[in-house]
Amino acid sequence: MNIINDDISHLHLKYPDIPLEAIIKQDILRLGISFAKAPQGPQNQYKTKDYFIFSFDMATLDELEAKGEQFMSAPEEVKFYGGEFDLKPTIFNVRLNPESPYQIKFEDQKPVLCYQNRAFADTEFHPYPEFYQSKLKSGKKISQIAPVLEWGYLIYLTIFRLCQYWGRDEECQYCDINENYRQQKKAGKEYTGVKDIEDILEALSIIEAKDSVTKAITITGGSITSHLQGKKESDFYLDYISAISEKFGKHWIIKAVVEAYEQEECKKLKQGGIQIYHPNYEIWNQQLFKQICPGKERFVGWQEWMDRIVASADIFGPENVIPNFVAGVEMAQPMGFSDVHEAVDSTRQGLEFFMSKSIMPRFTTWCREPLAHLKDQSAPPLEYYVKLLLVWRDTMEKYQLPAPPGYGEPGVGKAVFSVSAFMDVIRS
Ligand code: SF4
Repeated sequence: MNIINDDISHLHLKYPDIPLEAIIKQDILRLGISFAKAPQGPQNQYKTKDYFIFSFDMATLDELEAKGEQFMSAPEEVKFYGGEFDLKPTIFNVRLNPESPYQIKFEDQKPVLCYQNRAFADTEFHPYPEFYQSKLKSGKKISQIAPVLEWGYLIYLTIFRLCQYWGRDEECQYCDINENYRQQKKAGKEYTGVKDIEDILEALSIIEAKDSVTKAITITGGSITSHLQGKKESDFYLDYISAISEKFGKHWIIKAVVEAYEQEECKKLKQGGIQIYHPNYEIWNQQLFKQICPGKERFVGWQEWMDRIVASADIFGPENVIPNFVAGVEMAQPMGFSDVHEAVDSTRQGLEFFMSKSIMPRFTTWCREPLAHLKDQSAPPLEYYVKLLLVWRDTMEKYQLPAPPGYGEPGVGKAVFSVSAFMDVIRS
């Protein structure tokens, strides 16, 4: 039986241990998704894209607007399930791409997932959180200050919506944080550059009172290479972390996605209330790290970055150090690998290095954002992602590591992490 297309059918046979749902999810994440116009009439209310840090789109806002209103009101995440392949519920992050072969269409008012116009699964959109209706005293929307993701599990606090790695010689070459900020402002959207602690505490108080779905908070923002509001990066973010943990205690798991710090700064974060530390290394290959993350190379350096990750395990406990890498970006051309197996082998070395120390790297799926410096890139082959899922899980199982904390339930049909399928492939 042909499953959606020849590529997916072939990979499903070649990698039978990887759930079909995870293969489809990775394919949608690497290619993006398009939306047909919704029919007139009452629709279920859902949460639209909040542009919580990057654009995570494969077209600019201007291009999307020109394609139709449906792209301006797309959901943050979609859950697919059922259909002719009896798929288990699987959630993916929406990366808008009007040219994608994947599309959400509407049949009898209901949204269905299609590949080249053929519907193959039912869908639901990210639920609208009740607390989004509340307004803050400052007049700002909660969706601006404390948006939720992962089907409501995670509150994502991008405190600083810019990055002080600046321009081609410093910005990570796949990242559009600064350009996205500009396009959101140009489009006239409310898009707060630096969030006020007071707004955040007020938003969290409302969420605490009204919601029972959120379980974790991520505190993050762009890198601060000099100072922001007179503070260096770790002190700047620490003020927010301390204020949140003083007011709410352990109501939420608190995670920080920040630079790789020295141990003294890690200690301060831990004392401030951080439970999970994400010093993202982005790409394992040293030469590619230099080319693709020139700011991180210049201000810290590959070797020092990796050494700091290892040293941070003494502070947080290795199971709570979860550095991210951007899966697929090591195949960016012209500098990257052109062979899938060489690319995965390179990444495997990083997984071995960290997982042998009980540190658990996890990954997001590279989104080819048009405003990033890496331009006109093809998507890495789907086999890269399927093999990576296998290698990631094999390495995790080899070192008998538990499912990472702060991501909700693992396993196919249960995972809520939406920007890669690593949680979907964990076996119970
Ligand atoms: S450190 Fe790199 S990935 Fe992170 S916001 Fe700055 S440019 Fe983007």
